[in-house]
Amino acid sequence: MSCPRIEVDLSKIRRNTRTLVKRLGPRGIGVTGVTKAVCGHPAIAQAMLDGGAAGLADARISNVQRLRAAGMTDSITLIRTPMLSQADQVVQSCETSYNTEISVISALAAAAIRKGTVHGIVLMVEMGDQRDGIRPENLAGVAQQVMQMSGVALKGIGANFACLNERAPTTSQMAALNALANEIEGACGPFLKIVSGGNSANLPWALGEHATGRVNDLRLGEAILLGVEPVSGDQIGGMHTDAFTLVAEVIETGAKPPPFPIALIDPTRERLRIVTPSGASARIILAMGHQDTDILGLSMPVGSTLIGATSDHLVIGTARPLPTVGSELKFRINYNALMHAMSAPDIEVKLLGDPPTRLSRRTQGEVGHLALV
Ligand SMILES: *Cc1c(COP(=O)(O)O)cnc(C)c1O
Repeated sequence: MSCPRIEVDLSKIRRNTRTLVKRLGPRGIGVTGVTKAVCGHPAIAQAMLDGGAAGLADARISNVQRLRAAGMTDSITLIRTPMLSQADQVVQSCETSYNTEISVISALAAAAIRKGTVHGIVLMVEMGDQRDGIRPENLAGVAQQVMQMSGVALKGIGANFACLNERAPTTSQMAALNALANEIEGACGPFLKIVSGGNSANLPWALGEHATGRVNDLRLGEAILLGVEPVSGDQIGGMHTDAFTLVAEVIETGAKPPPFPIALIDPTRERLRIVTPSGASARIILAMGHQDTDILGLSMPVGSTLIGATSDHLVIGTARPLPTVGSELKFRINYNALMHAMSAPDIEVKLLGDPPTRLSRRTQGEVGHLALV
């Protein structure tokens, strides 16, 4: 079996999606499955749909194109405002996109007219995360401009929280989003089909005691994939946190730690913690490094400590019996480690669990082949 590899349990992703769909459904909120951390992997996206996700979303057009190439015909929304240079591709592969710039919306409208379709626009409003978004006081004006353009249709509004700043949305911020939805309808007339409340960081709010108002969609990636609430890092009750496992092969063992472990650390990578392995009397060297994943996002196996990593080597200390050269060690991973591992060229993605219900024959073939454990 090829190493390093990332093992993906599709059944757990399906069940995590279903758990969230069931909890949010009674509150009037649908789930859009976000595939960017898995680079638009078609089988993982299909597991989200099989779990009841109403649609898919990704931040990059390249990931959307990968889904389309696998035969995915479901609705896919681009949730990063499109690059002006990609307007044609966006209209080609997405029904809807999130937008903050009128010049981009005009380009999408022109592209849609050329193609003979109508492209859906969700306006992203800035509500305190200080990343992308239209300021609330400008939202009605932009919405009116969109209404007057042909080639595009205003589908809704959306907000984003806890991405650039790591604060979960407050009840009053969510009430403000609700008020904005009503205001836009008052100013523009049309019913807003989508009021998208945010990402996984909104789950404590969405599942809380209070009313959720007009919000009828959440865009969920991390919660579905890793079963955790991103701001606290806590497991969400009843969810699987082990759908992904990173596996690396041992290439050397047994060397005693030298007196100055600092010699192993790349001095330009100041963020790498240097842990003196307490009680760890021996080392294990694995064939995996910074080029493959975010090493600080790995959970060390029980009894082991991270000593350091270079581009191609991972060095850990252990107080436990040494594994043999050629054996494999398994790691749980956080969101950053997942995102990097899924885009690393040398990491094989191995699918476990029941294969997806329906995908093009090409992808089904891939699943069938890889599902043999
Ligand atoms: C990444 C992203 C999401 C999903 O975030 P998670 O924390 O993974 O749920 C939702 N919306 C936007 C705009 C994003 O960029």
